[in-house]
Amino acid sequence: MAYIQFLGAAGTVTGSKHLISISADASGRRGFQALIDCGLFQGPKEWRDRNWQDTPIPAREIDAVVLTHAHIDHSGWIPRLVKEGFRGPIYATPSTIDLCAILLPDSGHLQEEDAEFYNRHKKSKHIPALPLYTREEADHCLQYFRPVEFGATQQIWSEISFRFVTAAHILGSSMAEVALTTNGQTRRLLFTGDIGRVRDKNVAPGKVVHSGPAEGEAADLLVMESTYGNRQHPTDDPRPRLAAVIRKTVERGGSVVVPAFAVERTQKFLFMLKELMESRQISQIPVYCDSPMAIKAVEIFLKHVEEYSDESRRLIRQYGSPLEWPGFTFALTSEQSKKINGTKYPSIIISSSGMVTGGRILHHLAQRLPDPRNTVIFIGFQAPGTRGATIKSGAPEVKIFGDVVPIRAQIATFEQFSDHADTPELLQWLHTFPKRPGATYLVHGEPAASAQLRDTIARELGWNVQVAQWMEKVEID
Ligand SMILES: [Zn+2]
Repeated sequence: MAYIQFLGAAGTVTGSKHLISISADASGRRGFQALIDCGLFQGPKEWRDRNWQDTPIPAREIDAVVLTHAHIDHSGWIPRLVKEGFRGPIYATPSTIDLCAILLPDSGHLQEEDAEFYNRHKKSKHIPALPLYTREEADHCLQYFRPVEFGATQQIWSEISFRFVTAAHILGSSMAEVALTTNGQTRRLLFTGDIGRVRDKNVAPGKVVHSGPAEGEAADLLVMESTYGNRQHPTDDPRPRLAAVIRKTVERGGSVVVPAFAVERTQKFLFMLKELMESRQISQIPVYCDSPMAIKAVEIFLKHVEEYSDESRRLIRQYGSPLEWPGFTFALTSEQSKKINGTKYPSIIISSSGMVTGGRILHHLAQRLPDPRNTVIFIGFQAPGTRGATIKSGAPEVKIFGDVVPIRAQIATFEQFSDHADTPELLQWLHTFPKRPGATYLVHGEPAASAQLRDTIARELGWNVQVAQWMEKVEID
């Protein structure tokens, strides 16, 4: 018997983790267990608590992990899986492995910081509060990663092989095409991971990697993300309004704070600022990129030019490495970070984490939110329950480091920077399938988004489509 079980990203947008399980058979042949993605639950406590639960199959009995991309909601549970006894290969594209080498240790560091904070303030029921995993444990898990190039077929068991195809979401992002052959019959399972923008650069400007997920996919069973299953991204160019917001903030003597993921989103935003400055749409004010990961992330981007969009290629040719741009400062140490706090002159501060769940952005927001001259610009998705979502919602205050911080700064939101396809784009991509999959399961969406996408796909394409439920098992027949 073979089945898929949705261990995460079902009913929510985090914790992506799908088990492919093939039972042992009567002849004594052992079974096989693989995880497609192994992500961390983030956001509401109800979901985060699930990070502490064991997998339904003991970690040491899981044979392999296939990782679609480096985002923590897809990769961040790997150190815990290894801590629990997993020793198999973790397959990922070379650039995903490079990104995991910075993202996972950072995630371990944040886990340690959280535990320390709770212990210091005695805010946990558990004494002492322990980190889910440490930075050292995250470093340790990197030895299990095995690179697989886009398009190469990788055999992972006698009856299972897979291939990565481009997802166009972030650097290194892929979909996993899994081929399962039993009794002479091959079933194709397609796990989309996160799907990037399908349209061209005029609708999704600033994209660092090329647009367009692989077209013409075929699958007997499709497991697809649905983050933007009930929404459409704005189709206008964000740059004129972005420039206006920055100009007005500078005019009133304020600074701009931008919570952004250190990977992809920060690079995209830096390129956009550079262009706005070079075209004199905004003045050349200091830009601080305050994320210890950002320098490393820029270096990884510079190494993987093969995945660039034409626009990124042109910008690098024209302006060189962002690390060398005059007026752009990359803060590596906490001393450098603290210096930014002392800056009174208008500046632009980009820092992570992108959903304000931890990291240096907390210090910047704690300091800048109470001042109405400042502006906070959101350029990324804010999962419900995160501080980012609270600030973005127009709340009068937010809790940071246990203190209540009044929100008087202007809040501006731009949806155009998304690295996820919206509903029309997802449909556009599904239309490239030569035939309808036997079954489609929607994951990685808030319940309303997944439900609406299910209805839209059923109506427009006539497919058999369902919303995956947490821990639901689907038999592969
Ligand atoms: Zn992602």
